[in-house]
Amino acid sequence: MSRGIIIKTEEEIELLRLSDLMVSETLALMGQMLKPGIKSIDLDKKAEEYIRDNGGIPSFKGYEGFPASLCISINEAVVHGIPSDYEIKDGDVVSIDCGVYMNGFHGDAAYTFAVGDVEEDIMDLLRATNKALYLGIEQAVAGKRTGDIGFVIQNYTEKQLGYGVVREMVGHGVGRDLHEKPEVPNYGKRGRGVILKENMTIAIEPMINLGTKSIKVLRDGWTIVTRDGKPSAHFEHSLVVKKGKADLLSDHKIIEESIKNNINIKKL
Ligand code: MG
Ligand code: MG
Repeated sequence: MSRGIIIKTEEEIELLRLSDLMVSETLALMGQMLKPGIKSIDLDKKAEEYIRDNGGIPSFKGYEGFPASLCISINEAVVHGIPSDYEIKDGDVVSIDCGVYMNGFHGDAAYTFAVGDVEEDIMDLLRATNKALYLGIEQAVAGKRTGDIGFVIQNYTEKQLGYGVVREMVGHGVGRDLHEKPEVPNYGKRGRGVILKENMTIAIEPMINLGTKSIKVLRDGWTIVTRDGKPSAHFEHSLVVKKGKADLLSDHKIIEESIKNNINIKKL
């Protein structure tokens, strides 16, 4: 039997914040390292070392058998990419998803980096996916519903801009378990779904495709790719539902600060 939605105490929220801070710092480190020629496996090794050196455990390593610490999903890969010997090229979009388990709680966040001279239509996809995340966050307040979050993300990216919203993977509650209830889809109807309550902790994570919303799983059993081979973007924040305005647990500002001086990263 699966547990229901878990409302966190203030103490639990502060522990979650520490895990999410380490996630954000790890992603910032990845942003500093990213450049054409680097292997995705080298990013993964460095991330694992950083997390363990700071007293954390990579949440994803061994999760349902996942073999690495980061999910690194490049270009047409949507999520769950396995780090490998692949050398990142100029023009690649690299989405990195990181989880850290510490003090009994999981942090979870993701960011998509544009390496080198990424085409402008793909930059627009990244900007729109990032903006959709914040539109969703505006809805993550007590009294609203998960459908309100999904609606604004889908309405902006799919209805207004014509991108494909991935249906099969969704945001989620996060806490002592990496994936808790409720599910937080990136599509939906206003006023539908689970009612959000103060001190629920959730991860919102739009996965938006330049072309079709259809996806498939590669033969490695993990990597999700777009069916038409066009690129995909993924941005994720963990947050606390509050009255009036959500309280972000993860911190993308640290990541954006870290790539400011990396000439190999094209900024959003
Ligand atoms: Mg997540
Ligand atoms: Mg994640």
